[in-house]
Amino acid sequence: MAYKTHKITLAPTFRQRRWFAQQCGYARFAYNRALADFKTGLAQDTFQSWQTLNNNFNKTKKNYTWVKAQDQRAALYAIKNLGQGIANWVAKRAKFPKFKKRGVRDAYTTDEQSVRVEGKRIKLPKVGWIKMRQALRFVGNIIKVTISRTAHRWFASISVETEDTEVIDNSTHPVIGIDVGINTLATLSDGTKYDNPRPLRRYERKLKHAQRKLSRKVLKSKNWFKQKRKIDRIHYRIACIRRNAHHKATTEIVKNASTIGIETLKVTNLLKHKKLAKALSDSALGGFLSKLKTKAEARGVCVIEADQFFASSKTCSSCGHKKKELLLSERMYQCGVCQYQKDRDVNAAINLRHLAVG
Ligand SMILES: [Zn+2]
Repeated sequence: MAYKTHKITLAPTFRQRRWFAQQCGYARFAYNRALADFKTGLAQDTFQSWQTLNNNFNKTKKNYTWVKAQDQRAALYAIKNLGQGIANWVAKRAKFPKFKKRGVRDAYTTDEQSVRVEGKRIKLPKVGWIKMRQALRFVGNIIKVTISRTAHRWFASISVETEDTEVIDNSTHPVIGIDVGINTLATLSDGTKYDNPRPLRRYERKLKHAQRKLSRKVLKSKNWFKQKRKIDRIHYRIACIRRNAHHKATTEIVKNASTIGIETLKVTNLLKHKKLAKALSDSALGGFLSKLKTKAEARGVCVIEADQFFASSKTCSSCGHKKKELLLSERMYQCGVCQYQKDRDVNAAINLRHLAVG
């Protein structure tokens, strides 16, 4: 059995949006209540699992009449989540959980038996059928559905239990090294390049402009919120364009490789680039690599990650000589020892390929 999740954009009506927002609110209420309980020690001495918190919450929720109309699973999953957060904190894997704020990662999860998917629509408990922009990609039992909001859009992440784990033969495909960067998204050892999408630059200018406008508004005034929403939408659009480009590139790369060599992102190095690099780099390139890894895993393609000291750019891919210094302006790698010349990014990608070959 394998679990797969498909995140689909929803097209909810006004009433449905309001319902979603309400359930996110209920999930947040339950989460914050349980966290407060835990903090005051109510459940702390008896805390063994999320069930303790949930039992406590089930007692307190009886004092609120509006709770009855809500999807009870929203609270259950929120508390389950908190339990996981506390367990991570106990195991020193994470910081102590924080209270949730409205408008920050609004989401709720449900799994009632009444969840159904038919073509481009989904049925959720207590709210009924909601239009989806796409049909569900996987066949199987639906385990749970998480409804979430990004900017003005609502999404359903549908987790499905599938049996079909197809085995793909990659053995005839080549070993590929990939260099990721800011100017060029990805450069492969065979010379193929994937550019960062062009519309980004336009939206980034727009974003800067909108942010300047926001700074001139009175903080938290009506106009300030209006402008803030505009900015959220631009962020969302940028993220969409970037994600599409990443999906296209990673799918294509993974389909044509048996083993992939990649570098470990050194965020500090990227920060040495221009200011813009920060916004573009850490999250975006990290997202690209994580998509690549997930897809590779699904297809049985092996991914070899260089450790963070691996000098993929400074090393000559022909003779192995390592330069002491390589300026960012040097677009061509020129080896002083063997006179080898290669595009800087391709040279780095070939080094990563060498590493993957072993
Ligand atoms: Zn050389």
